[in-house]
This record gives sequence, C-alpha cells and structure tokens, in this order.
Amino acid sequence: MVTRKELYYETLKDPLWRQRRDDVMYRDAYSCTTCGTTKHLQVHHQYYEDNKLPWEYPDDCLVTLCETCHGLLHEKNDMRKDIEMERGCYGKNAVA
Ligand SMILES: [Zn+2]
Ligand SMILES: [Zn+2]
Repeated sequence: MVTRKELYYETLKDPLWRQRRDDVMYRDAYSCTTCGTTKHLQVHHQYYEDNKLPWEYPDDCLVTLCETCHGLLHEKNDMRKDIEMERGCYGKNAVA
C-alpha cells in the first residue's frame, strides 16, 4: 500500500515538477532571492492549496531560496512546515 507521504515524494520526482522548478530557478537567475547565493537552491511554495499538485501553482507562489534562507524563513514564520515536509519541499533532502 502506498501512503500519502510516499505519493507526494513520488510526485516531486516527477519530470513535470523538475521542469517547473527549473522554470522558477531560471526566472530567479539560479540564485537565492533573499541572499543571492547560487548554492543549494530549493523552490519554496508561499502557500498551499488542497488538491493541487506542486507544479500547478502560479509563478508568484514559487520562489527560489537557498537551503539556509529556506530554513530560516520556515523557522521565523512557522509556515505550515509540516505540510512542506510532507510534500518534500522542506528539509535536508528536500527536492523542492
Ligand atoms: Zn539564501
Ligand atoms: Zn518552503
């Protein structure tokens, strides 16, 4: 049986999400929108809606952040970290 968590993990490996992430990072010139570094980049969702796939969000929801700024942002705002963790957006091995 495939759990919900595993399902999200699978979706984030989807070529469609890879493409979406690439588009967002390209728009942000492959650099963190907060500190400008070009290393360890991740794409952060500014909000989540139920029943939406990770790549179905508009451009203004998605921002390129480095691992450090991404982590700080979540700590500061406590922005539904649990959900992003579940969706693989947050954390050390994050793909998003
Ligand atoms: Zn940064
Ligand atoms: Zn995030």
